[in-house]
Amino acid sequence: MQLFDVVSVKGRLFCDQLPRDIWRRCKDELLCLKCAKRYSDWRSLRKHMNFFCQMEPLYPCPYCTHRARIPTLLKYHVVREHTAFASIEEIY
Ligand SMILES: [Zn+2]
Ligand SMILES: [Zn+2]
Repeated sequence: MQLFDVVSVKGRLFCDQLPRDIWRRCKDELLCLKCAKRYSDWRSLRKHMNFFCQMEPLYPCPYCTHRARIPTLLKYHVVREHTAFASIEEIY
């Protein structure tokens, strides 16, 4: 399949960097080129392809082995999982 050849050249796919006709086709079909996941609207698809699909999580948590894909998610993770840790560290 031709689309997959284009995608596999780069390990990481940003739909913003796709040739416009390919991205348009992708948007029409609402289908992720890499994992073939379907979306009901192209904005979700775009977000998925830019930030989530088969990407190595980039932002390591300072408190555990968790890695977040985008900084906002890391912040949420730390607040949710490590609020106690954070306050303990502040005390010592
Ligand atoms: Zn995908
Ligand atoms: Zn963590």
